Amino acid sequence: MVSSCTKYELRCNECGKSYGNQPLSACADCLAPLEVQYDLESVRGRFTRETIAAGPANIWRYKELLPIPEGFLPDLPVGFTPLVRAKNLGKRIGADNLYVKNDAVCFPTLSFKDRVVAVALANAQAFGFTTVGCSSTGNLANSTAAQAARLGLKACILVPADLEAAKILNTQVYGARLVRIDGNYDHVNRLCTQIADEYNWGFVNVNLRPYYAEGSKTVGYEIAEQLGWRLPDNIVCPMAGGSLIRKIRKAFKELIALGLVEPKEVRFFGAQATGCSPISHAVKNGWDYIEPQRPNTIARSLAIGNPADGPAAAKMIQETGGWAEDVSDVELVSGIQELAETEGIFTETAGGVTTAVAARLYSQGRISRDETTVVCITGNGLKTTDALEGRFATERAVKPKLAAFDEYIRAVDGKLIGVKEDAELVLAGGPR
Ligand SMILES: *Cc1c(COP(=O)(O)O)cnc(C)c1O
Ligand SMILES: [Zn+2]
Repeated sequence: MVSSCTKYELRCNECGKSYGNQPLSACADCLAPLEVQYDLESVRGRFTRETIAAGPANIWRYKELLPIPEGFLPDLPVGFTPLVRAKNLGKRIGADNLYVKNDAVCFPTLSFKDRVVAVALANAQAFGFTTVGCSSTGNLANSTAAQAARLGLKACILVPADLEAAKILNTQVYGARLVRIDGNYDHVNRLCTQIADEYNWGFVNVNLRPYYAEGSKTVGYEIAEQLGWRLPDNIVCPMAGGSLIRKIRKAFKELIALGLVEPKEVRFFGAQATGCSPISHAVKNGWDYIEPQRPNTIARSLAIGNPADGPAAAKMIQETGGWAEDVSDVELVSGIQELAETEGIFTETAGGVTTAVAARLYSQGRISRDETTVVCITGNGLKTTDALEGRFATERAVKPKLAAFDEYIRAVDGKLIGVKEDAELVLAGGPR
């Protein structure tokens, strides 16, 4: 009998050594990251446009190319977020064929991390872990806590002490143990590696990392499917650990290998905040290695100074003919506002980075206006409202009388009722 389960195993990215399936993230010989590899031939007949269309409207429609242990019955409707044609933003930045992949509304915790956690926890259960956790810059904490709660797993989550209040609350509400560590993400991550070994816990982005990372491929599958089984010319993607951007490319390559889309070399563009830009720095210098940085940016979800997949991400961006850019904190806040004002999408600081970098890539001429470009928005603005603190005036309260409203609106925003600029000036400061 033909098994209906896809064959996959962990292999070293550098030396190709095989590790079967186990909670392990790095090669014992060369310390390079392990990655899940599939026997693509074994899924050829089962991963088609038709079988996918017949699946549920969530990431599990692609389960044949996800590392799902035998017997796992996926039921949480994660992913399948909107791909939005962004004409208004396009007009502002000089782009005629611009799309936004909007993971600001991913289920259940409003970031693309819901995808990776869903796949990681499926494996955590299969490996027999009863306590799971993660080292997180925020979104991963939210998602791990929420999905662990639903699966009945205990969760212990470690974060840098300076994390945004909303992300802390958004973890604790699910009943997870949240531990603030007096250090940056890289300190937290190193500690988690030791904890995982000491207590035999399943850390989604440490010992379960190869499985976790595969969840990111679903962003790529969805983009291709939502474009009508076509690949875009360009992807603009934020980078923290450097995993997401690589996995979107892996997804595209698998779709090409299985004949679901026409072969095409998509160019990948990485986005970082200048205050933590080890990968864009490497790309700009033509390096295939990373010089670690000490993060100093409000884009905390991207603030990984020594990214695990950084070298591979830098290398692959250069291979595709893409580029990487980084923007200041001031620019990323403008990016948040620009996306909100043009498309009605409120993204967090990471999305501000991605939007501002996309704008710069067009103005530099690295992306030309007629190309089809997808900008990956990965998180929700309600989690990082502190980034906009002080941007908008708190208006005085107006008496509930038409005359009072009329006087007020003429003073602050005459254009709203068609009053000309000079009339506004008279009302605001001139003689009455
Ligand atoms: C984690 C994260 C990223 C980057 O993911 P990597 O795969 O680590 O590069 C991007 N955006 C947001 C909002 C994130 O939380
Ligand atoms: Zn190796």
